[in-house]
Amino acid sequence: MFIRLAKRISETGEYLFAALDRKKRDAIKRGVDVVNLGVGDPDLPTPELVIESLRRAAGEPGNHQYPSYQGKEELRRAISEYMSRRFHVSLDPDKEIVVLIGSKEGIAHLSWAMLDPGDIALLGDPAYPVYGGAAFFCGAHVHRLPLKRERGFLPDLGSVPEDVAKKAKVLWLNYPNNPTAATATREFFEQAVDFGKKNEVIIINDASYAEIYYDGKPPVSFLEIPGAKDVGLEFHSLSKTFNMTGWRVGWAAGNETLIDGLGRIKTNVDSGVFGAVQDAAVTALKEGWSSVEELRKIYAARRDILCKALQDGGWDVLVPKATFFVLASVPKGMAGMETAEWLLNECGIVCTPAAGMGKGGEGFVRFSLTAPDERIEEAARRLRALSEK
Ligand SMILES: *Cc1c(COP(=O)(O)O)cnc(C)c1O
Repeated sequence: MFIRLAKRISETGEYLFAALDRKKRDAIKRGVDVVNLGVGDPDLPTPELVIESLRRAAGEPGNHQYPSYQGKEELRRAISEYMSRRFHVSLDPDKEIVVLIGSKEGIAHLSWAMLDPGDIALLGDPAYPVYGGAAFFCGAHVHRLPLKRERGFLPDLGSVPEDVAKKAKVLWLNYPNNPTAATATREFFEQAVDFGKKNEVIIINDASYAEIYYDGKPPVSFLEIPGAKDVGLEFHSLSKTFNMTGWRVGWAAGNETLIDGLGRIKTNVDSGVFGAVQDAAVTALKEGWSSVEELRKIYAARRDILCKALQDGGWDVLVPKATFFVLASVPKGMAGMETAEWLLNECGIVCTPAAGMGKGGEGFVRFSLTAPDERIEEAARRLRALSEK
């Protein structure tokens, strides 16, 4: 057999959620009625008006040809209007916005546009695995910044060693955060802009969860900070906001040079998002907001049920202000993976050990609220029963 894959493949670890998925499947095979609170993939359907818009747009001959790599002008304009309305950020739809096949695609391709072999990428520990994976594919090094509970899971930028800060090419932020569910303060984003300017480090914020929030308190955007556009950009996605993870559409907005570089990689690698999906995305951004309001109410009710059951069971829970994740401290003397396996074996609940996204996540497990209401209630019942054992 002469076929050998590139080293970057053999050196790439298994995608975290693949391992988790296998454990879950094994349990199902054993006959366990599994409540899956592991993966964060919305259970609720895409709003009907968005689906209807796709149906109409699918018949448009113009949508049957290659789309433009940077995205339709109408969609970039709708994005610009949304960013202005929601965050008071003004963006040039031609130069400061690019439509993506989901933000994950953009995160990976932007890394190719930014990082040379040997460069340093700074990222949180724990963090969404794609930032580090993409840096690795570029031959860049990763320097992890611990996200600690006592600092609200915001990295301590003042503690980055000076030589690392000077040498680093990019700092990845992700607020609202997966897996910790932390939100950033305006002050923190200001510090990040200063850090970027002082050390000539590009600052990227992944804002995929910007619209999944509670208690009527919308999270801030990195781009709201004066000077943010000079140092970086922000990723947004329709995936979580409109239950559209399968549709693959998002965008990057901010620094013109970065948008241009990302676009240049994209022209060489992909051909953009299906035109009909872009038309449906316009509908979502213009007309879909009442369903997002409903979605927030549903997650809030689920959050309250799950957090209460965990708290009643003696768990130390961090009640989230945003995202559809609930982070909980593991029981004393147990590791995260051990806790996840224990929950699966004892009550058939799948959760994610946060350490799977970086050892800084050790000591916490993450529960996702993307399961139907009755399954969340079932999980709550089982957690109560477990604590009474
Ligand atoms: C879900 C998720 C994404 C992926 O979003 P897509 O737009 O569907 O690619 C990006 N970042 C984080 C942190 C996520 O949790």
